[in-house]
Amino acid sequence: MNSENTYDAIVIGGGPSGSSSSYILSEHGHRVLLLEREKFPRYHIGESMIPFTYGPMERLGLIPRMRQSHFVKKYSVIFISPNGKVSTPFYFFNRYDRDTVAQTWQVLRSELDQMLLDHTRSKGTTVKEETTVKELLREDGRVVGVRAQHKDGSVVEYRAPITLDCTGKEAFAAVRNGWRTPDPYLNKVAVWTYYKGSKREPGIDEGQTAVAYVPEKGWFWHIPQHDDMVSVGVVAEGKYLTRGGVREPKDIFHREVEQNVWIKEHLATGQQVGPYYLTSEYTQHARHCGSAGLLLVGDAFAFLDPVFSSGLMLALKSGVFAGDEVHQAIVAKDFSPARFTHYATTMRQGVENMRKLVYAFYEPKFSFKDVIVKYPEAAGEITDCLSGDVNKDFEPLWRKIREFVPLPDDLPLGQPLAN
Ligand SMILES: Cc1cc2nc3c(=O)[nH]c(=O)nc-3n(C[C@H](O)[C@H](O)[C@H](O)COP(=O)(O)OP(=O)(O)OC[C@H]3O[C@@H](n4cnc5c(N)ncnc54)[C@H](O)[C@@H]3O)c2cc1C
Repeated sequence: MNSENTYDAIVIGGGPSGSSSSYILSEHGHRVLLLEREKFPRYHIGESMIPFTYGPMERLGLIPRMRQSHFVKKYSVIFISPNGKVSTPFYFFNRYDRDTVAQTWQVLRSELDQMLLDHTRSKGTTVKEETTVKELLREDGRVVGVRAQHKDGSVVEYRAPITLDCTGKEAFAAVRNGWRTPDPYLNKVAVWTYYKGSKREPGIDEGQTAVAYVPEKGWFWHIPQHDDMVSVGVVAEGKYLTRGGVREPKDIFHREVEQNVWIKEHLATGQQVGPYYLTSEYTQHARHCGSAGLLLVGDAFAFLDPVFSSGLMLALKSGVFAGDEVHQAIVAKDFSPARFTHYATTMRQGVENMRKLVYAFYEPKFSFKDVIVKYPEAAGEITDCLSGDVNKDFEPLWRKIREFVPLPDDLPLGQPLAN
């Protein structure tokens, strides 16, 4: 084996989880190889940040860059009923520090992901784009590297004592290991596109995310971006969206626009731009966070229905966390699965807390307002979870919400597969 192709860690995927984990490992002084299938900048969905994305972005040293960027500042979320009735904006600064956590961003992922990838490259990570990992290499039950194909067709083996799977919801290792587990209920379909020049709110409300309901517990996201663009998409059960045999994403989208007065009115003055996108792979969990020599990070570990925009926060948080944990493993020369128990427990706790709120959201009878009217102190707890402060004991909140709607138990998933 060519020593040029041997590293301390290999990272598969250059999205937020891959760039952040590789950055932390490079910062600790390790030799890191990141393999990314696409040539950046590349398109990606997932454009709204939540307040507690601040911590990992600060750790990565990127807050000044974000502040200087043209990304639209997000201070709040609103909820809108089908008849167009708008909730009071839910301002993060009513609970958090206005100068830090309480202001977040609506991003263009091609630009954010390029910034993150350049950032890890500048820290010393060797980044190879247009390189697709085809296989995990195994010896004596351990993952010892990957077989990857470059753009010119050449196939190269790269070796490292640990490989981080950051491949997003395609979940490279979980699929091949048979670990991919769907969620019993969260199996929605999303259809989305972009508008230019549509109506947006003035002042600090310009960057607010709108979650607008359609009947049958579907919802629209409306995410204002820079250059007068808006990302807008609808999420619901597949059989609802395709009722009457409608299958084309464009037709599905425009039929649902008619279902919400606010969305219809806001889009009316704008120009639709680019393709209509559809995804049906919604919410999945990996049975294990890894095995000997392998660790799953970001969506590759767990991908949750994005109604509360938790994906970037979880991807960056798990990326930074994984970077630190793998650093400790490299220092100790111990890559046994048990080392990653704490990582698994922490990340699953966060996913499970957010997942409970997502389940509540999809219950037709549920409303945050009802819970808060009965238990005013629940407002703060709900805000914390929705804002991404997810590693706390929310049992008191779940007890209150269970008086209104059922909530799922934690899934017994995520611990590393023992040797
Ligand atoms: C419809 C929808 C709406 C969403 N909205 C939001 C939102 O508003 N806010 C939010 O925070 N999140 C949102 N998300 C979730 C968000 O997109 C993800 O959580 C986030 O992108 C996860 O980052 P990641 O780094 O884990 O994976 P990704 O960003 O998917 O990155 C994975 C990378 O791995 C590469 N890759 C894959 N396979 C290979 C391979 N074999 N070899 C080499 N490279 C490979 C891919 O090219 C990709 O660049 C949404 C998701 C969906 C589906």
